[in-house]
Amino acid sequence: MANTPLTPGVVSGRLGSEAYRDNFADKAPPLTAHEAAIAADRCYFCHEAPCVTACPTTIDIPLFIREIATGAPRAAARTIFDQNILGGMCARVCPTEQLCEEACVREVAEGKPVEIGRLQRYATDTLMGEGGHPYTRAAPTGKRIAVVGAGPAGLACAHRLAMKGHEVALFDARPKAGGLNEYGIAAYKTVDGYAQAEVDWLMGIGGITAHNGKALGRDISLDGLKGEYDAVFLAIGLGGVNALRAEGEEKSHVQDAVDFIAELRQAEDLSTIAVGRNVVVIGGGMTAVDAAVQSKLLGAENVTIVYRRGRDAMSASEEEQHLASSKGVRIVTGAAPLRILGEGAVEAVEFAYTRETEAGLELTDETFKIRADQVFKAIGQQLEGAPEGLELSGRKIAVTGPGRTSLPGIWAGGDCAAGGDDLTVTAVAEGRDAAEDIHATLMGEG
Ligand SMILES: Cc1cc2nc3c(=O)[nH]c(=O)nc-3n(C[C@H](O)[C@H](O)[C@H](O)COP(=O)(O)OP(=O)(O)OC[C@H]3O[C@@H](n4cnc5c(N)ncnc54)[C@H](O)[C@@H]3O)c2cc1C
Ligand code: SF4
Repeated sequence: MANTPLTPGVVSGRLGSEAYRDNFADKAPPLTAHEAAIAADRCYFCHEAPCVTACPTTIDIPLFIREIATGAPRAAARTIFDQNILGGMCARVCPTEQLCEEACVREVAEGKPVEIGRLQRYATDTLMGEGGHPYTRAAPTGKRIAVVGAGPAGLACAHRLAMKGHEVALFDARPKAGGLNEYGIAAYKTVDGYAQAEVDWLMGIGGITAHNGKALGRDISLDGLKGEYDAVFLAIGLGGVNALRAEGEEKSHVQDAVDFIAELRQAEDLSTIAVGRNVVVIGGGMTAVDAAVQSKLLGAENVTIVYRRGRDAMSASEEEQHLASSKGVRIVTGAAPLRILGEGAVEAVEFAYTRETEAGLELTDETFKIRADQVFKAIGQQLEGAPEGLELSGRKIAVTGPGRTSLPGIWAGGDCAAGGDDLTVTAVAEGRDAAEDIHATLMGEG
């Protein structure tokens, strides 16, 4: 749909080729060896380092920074990958300002943390740039495990299982592996096809057979997998999108933000992606910011994020909000959509101001309209297609400990499982930990 301008305002090719290239260039370019040495030198190599505790994958941060400081970036990369096999992607996408760098003693003391994320990228890029795969597999165990979903959780689980000598079948509904690394993360955070390059590198361990284009519930069933494999790990993410529940949601050019971002991420040529002149994004999380910023970078003139509560309640971090503002995105808070207006295609959105009461958030009678020729809905994703019989906790798959579901032999992790933040690094940690538990269980060590 995006390539077909239905209204004059939503068109592709708003910018010249140079502008697309500049706008979507690497958000945080890699450090040179010299810059990395200087950045590493700032680390105090703390004993019981708070940065490690703040990392969901508990990478030994002072150790890898010391390895960089002593001129051994390959050893540093091994230290990172031992804990987080997607350490390269996490170096690019982790909200470090809310995790390791927020906890860094130099942030606390001086407001300027050690650049842990950029140092991690320096180390992982160095080792991955040499090609080959740094790990070898243990002797074959004869066990076969199905991993469903090839996003960060599934990939981390598959790699750890393969390393322990198991045979892994990795199923994914999409044509490419990578999950949101490939279809969701903002384009300027992971440039030059890094997501697929990382998947290829990870698969270099061997013992993992990818079955792309195979969906659980359509092409494969949980009962079938249980019969054929010794264990199953579910890592299907959150494929559903919450409804806006505003009148006129069906009008053309009202789109789910995640679909727009996936289309953008898969585009060979960004000038083919149509974008409005006046774009309104509804939501307050990372997806809302990413849709808004990328609309602006594609050449939209006016982009407004509208969120129903205050800025403090936005799940997009302060840094992301700042990024949006720095790109000229306007953020309006305390307003909720009432109606999408327009004849066939959207022309404006009517909002009501909200107020917090003891009974919850209420709409007031005070309303306003924002002109819009394109609207992105970014009000959260939800679990879709969870197999029957699995106990849920809230709206996600209930798990105990390292991803054990209510059904024996079935584990789950990443965004689809209850508990933990919806972040790439958390998904990696959960995939890795479930793999350890599956291994211990199958080998009678658990
Ligand atoms: C727009 C957007 C931007 C984000 N940006 C960031 C960021 O900058 N930093 C960050 O840390 N986090 C970010 N996140 C969150 C992060 O991407 C997720 O937390 C992470 O990808 C979760 O990993 P996962 O493996 O659980 O799920 P996913 O990455 O969603 O992968 C799930 C996989 O399962 C497959 N699947 C789904 N259903 C089926 C089925 N029935 N059968 C077979 N396969 C199936 C899907 O095709 C997909 O490949 C972002 C999320 C979004 C939506
Ligand atoms: S908290 Fe900061 S200074 Fe201390 S080890 Fe971690 S990165 Fe280095």
